Amino acid sequence: MRTVEMTCIVCPIGCDLKVTLDDEGHFVSVKGNRCPKGEIYARDEVVDPKRILTSSVKVVGGKMPLVSVKTNKTIPKRLIRDTMSIIKSKKVKAPVKIGDVIVENILNTGSNVVATRTVKSDE
Ligand code: SF4
Repeated sequence: MRTVEMTCIVCPIGCDLKVTLDDEGHFVSVKGNRCPKGEIYARDEVVDPKRILTSSVKVVGGKMPLVSVKTNKTIPKRLIRDTMSIIKSKKVKAPVKIGDVIVENILNTGSNVVATRTVKSDE
């Protein structure tokens, strides 16, 4: 058995977690979480860490050349490089509205890449 310390980043409280793992590195228990989301976060961090990804996408014919985007759900950290490749290769045509889906179900993660601001057309 061993203990790993981490900070829960699910909400701004930022609870200090002590996660106990067995000899094979499997999750056993967690202490320090103020709510059940902390246990889910700790389990995910041990098994398959996930993050919200933020970036930007090129806009064609817009008042701005880029629109900020983010995944609307967490995606596995191991897929961030491949996700960024897709986002970098993407172009959208203005106008873009906040909340528009730029890439649906990226890499079959169940997460959509959505615009986080509006970019009007330059016409
Ligand atoms: S354990 Fe709960 S209260 Fe603590 S940081 Fe995570 S989500 Fe927030």
